[in-house]
Amino acid sequence: MKLQRFCRPLVTLALLTFSLCGAQPPKTLRLYVFNCGSLNIPDTSPYQLKKEDVSTTFMSVPCFLVAHPKGTMIWYTGAVPDSNFKPGDSKATLRYATTLKPLAAQLAEVGYAPSDITYLALSHFHWDHVGNSNLFAGSTWLVRQKERDVMFTEPFSPRTEPANYSKLKNAKTMIIKDADYDVFGDGSVIVKSAPGHSPDHQVLFLKLAKTGPVVVSGDLYHYPEERKRNLVPLTEFDRDQSAASRANIEAFMKKTGAQLWIQHDFNATAKLKKAPQYYE
Ligand SMILES: [Zn+2]
Repeated sequence: MKLQRFCRPLVTLALLTFSLCGAQPPKTLRLYVFNCGSLNIPDTSPYQLKKEDVSTTFMSVPCFLVAHPKGTMIWYTGAVPDSNFKPGDSKATLRYATTLKPLAAQLAEVGYAPSDITYLALSHFHWDHVGNSNLFAGSTWLVRQKERDVMFTEPFSPRTEPANYSKLKNAKTMIIKDADYDVFGDGSVIVKSAPGHSPDHQVLFLKLAKTGPVVVSGDLYHYPEERKRNLVPLTEFDRDQSAASRANIEAFMKKTGAQLWIQHDFNATAKLKKAPQYYE
């Protein structure tokens, strides 16, 4: 009894300290994968695929948190904004996206608040990738010029939801000019140019100590069948550029031995371990 009485305040204090200070930086690079929902694709024809060509027409929407000893980076903010959850709701939707848990709640489970996140990077500006960008308006936004331009030039593209990233307009912004941007300066987290799907689309390269090198695809591909059959969707911003970017990233993966994680690949994403577990 005595021990319990003594320990309880200590545990409470530790929890309070944890929530006040946020997570401590890890000693080595970590990657958390969050489930930010799924897309019920209404029509697969833009991908030059019939329903029977794909194992599922659904696409996954993961969000990623990179935790590095020198800081953190969120890669993707989901499709559905957390604000679409109403009290008591077990899911929230936007267009043909559904998600089961707010991103901020998922971050909190691993000890982070949006205000703790050093960098925000998106592969591109489409609506299913920018849902909670406003949560990270206090982070430094890593973006390329043409992508930023298309996000804030009116009339807005129907392929996005400007209200969901409007606060980025005044966020601290780092315009990436080089093909590769080494986020923490040690070669372990690199944002790579891969235009075509959108004007300044980019992919993420991670050098994880145990998992090995990984390329997180953005929308370089959507369905895995696009890669197998070498199909470039009809709705790309610039299809020739997309094909060139694919060739470039495929050559890079061959050289580095990196595995490719196709973010929208429903079955592959389902198999990834989810936060609070992490890759290292
Ligand atoms: Zn997408």
